[in-house]
Amino acid sequence: MTVPSASPEGDVCCEVLIVGGGPTGLFLAALLARRGVGVIVLERRAAPAEHSRAIGLHPPALRALREVGLERTAARVGARIRCGRARSRGRELGRLRFARAWPGRPYVLSLPQSRTEELLADRLAESAPGALRRGREVTALRERADGVEVTARRMGEAGETGSTAEPLRLRARVVVAADGSRSTVRELLGIGTTGTEHRDAYLMGDLADPDSAGAEGTGSHGVGTDRDALIHLEPGGVVESFPLPGARRRWVVHTGRGDLAEPRSEVLTRAIRERTGMRLDPGTTSMISAFSVRRRTAQRLVTTRCALLGDAAHEISPIGGQGITLGWLDALDAAPLLARTVRATAGGRSSRGPLDADPAWQRLERVCRRRARVAGLIAHANTALGRPLPGPFAAARTLGVSIALRTPLRHVMAWTYSMGWARRR
Ligand SMILES: Cc1cc2nc3c(=O)[nH]c(=O)nc-3n(C[C@H](O)[C@H](O)[C@H](O)COP(=O)(O)OP(=O)(O)OC[C@H]3O[C@@H](n4cnc5c(N)ncnc54)[C@H](O)[C@@H]3O)c2cc1C
Repeated sequence: MTVPSASPEGDVCCEVLIVGGGPTGLFLAALLARRGVGVIVLERRAAPAEHSRAIGLHPPALRALREVGLERTAARVGARIRCGRARSRGRELGRLRFARAWPGRPYVLSLPQSRTEELLADRLAESAPGALRRGREVTALRERADGVEVTARRMGEAGETGSTAEPLRLRARVVVAADGSRSTVRELLGIGTTGTEHRDAYLMGDLADPDSAGAEGTGSHGVGTDRDALIHLEPGGVVESFPLPGARRRWVVHTGRGDLAEPRSEVLTRAIRERTGMRLDPGTTSMISAFSVRRRTAQRLVTTRCALLGDAAHEISPIGGQGITLGWLDALDAAPLLARTVRATAGGRSSRGPLDADPAWQRLERVCRRRARVAGLIAHANTALGRPLPGPFAAARTLGVSIALRTPLRHVMAWTYSMGWARRR
């Protein structure tokens, strides 16, 4: 592997610099390290994330984890969701199973994002010790024909700036922006976004699962289990729940269109009780947050020496939970191109020219855009399906879903939901 080094001026030099140590950045770094590419990841947060945030890893994401040797580990510590059950007003409408769409991986894995990031960071540390540099926020960058100069500042544990510390200067042949939906790199490159804001608001919380209490829970993250996802299509708005490892469950409730609801456990458990009759103990809440949804895509994903991947490139509604999978598919496609690009410029050999003029990078941009468009449309449909509806419309929706789940249409729905359309050869 080409190890990062220091230039005569004291700048840190590496082949690929990844900005952002979220799921996309860490996964890409692990892939590149396996290919022997000298990689550095700069992550603004000084400490690992604790928020459970994204939990759904679809079969293409599990396939991606295999590339860094983590599929089995993830499957062991996550909760396997083989079946989704749709309900309304106390009645079961039907079931969706993923076995037909993905015979080899017949489930969506539920694993808190904090745990996913921990697994990836550990894997990266094994193959490229010191590559992940936490508490470093990128504040400026300058693209040149043969590389990028980057400036970063140190951040403390509480997110405060290390004001007395000298800014860090780094040079890389290529910079990858994996710094999320509010990407600083995207802004520094002057790349705008297009898209739409939805007015749908949600409350989300992780609570003890009364149905699985006592059935598991060895170790701090619990052990893998098979439990069902529940989707309650109610006139007041959808109530979704997904198993989490460790006898817990993630609840997501549509709270209307407009302002966000107050992120309090009692507000969440009351909405669940009023719509479904289920009584949950708010005292068992380990995470609660309110969010709204939007869909945005960067106007360019590739520039002279930079590429945007993951949420920095495309943000979609979390309803349907495809964001991490999309970022990893971007990374799988970008890794061989990055390796090829740094090899072509190694040892002072002349640059192959701007990335955005290279047909392979242009193709990558098209592929990433197409995937994000499909995922965005599916997430949009999921969001629309869960909106509050007046009585007769809610009854028509219930009827439509129960018919679909009793006909071969359910196989199409399972294929769509489990991202069968994103299968890689
Ligand atoms: C409520 C909610 C639920 C979701 N549920 C799911 C789900 O179930 N399944 C799913 O697949 N997706 C889900 N998503 C989406 C998923 O969380 C994102 O798609 C995913 O986190 C994107 O990963 P990323 O690495 O591209 O960006 P991020 O996770 O946003 O990571 C970006 C990283 O960059 C760092 N950073 C930012 N700026 C800088 C800077 N200037 N310098 C250095 N570092 C910087 C940040 O600290 C962060 O660690 C959900 C999202 C939300 C909000």
